[in-house]
Amino acid sequence: MKPRKRTRHPDKAQQAAKAAAKLKRLRSLPYDEYLQTPHWRRKRRKAIRRHGDACQCCGSRIELEVHHKHYRTKGRENFSDLEVLCRDCHIGKHQDEKPWLVDSVTAEFLQVIRGW
Ligand SMILES: [Zn+2]
Ligand SMILES: [Zn+2]
Repeated sequence: MKPRKRTRHPDKAQQAAKAAAKLKRLRSLPYDEYLQTPHWRRKRRKAIRRHGDACQCCGSRIELEVHHKHYRTKGRENFSDLEVLCRDCHIGKHQDEKPWLVDSVTAEFLQVIRGW
């Protein structure tokens, strides 16, 4: 006889495996594709709402974007890893970065924003 599986609760191990696979997939995406994922869009919206729909740098309420202070937690960002900035402040932030000093994800991001 087959052992009966308890189905009252979702299988935790299976859920964890699914979450790990999702995270792996998110982390492997190129940055511009990552920005299109529902995961990032949702997080971005929440971060902006959390900061009162205003730039943390100048208080502007237009063209808000969400800046990664670092990319170590890409795919599982905490709100403390993110900064809500208007486009001008955001570009200003990245203009100071020296391409040869940044990690590969940031370098890729710089290409994306400078390609606008
Ligand atoms: Zn600003
Ligand atoms: Zn940024």
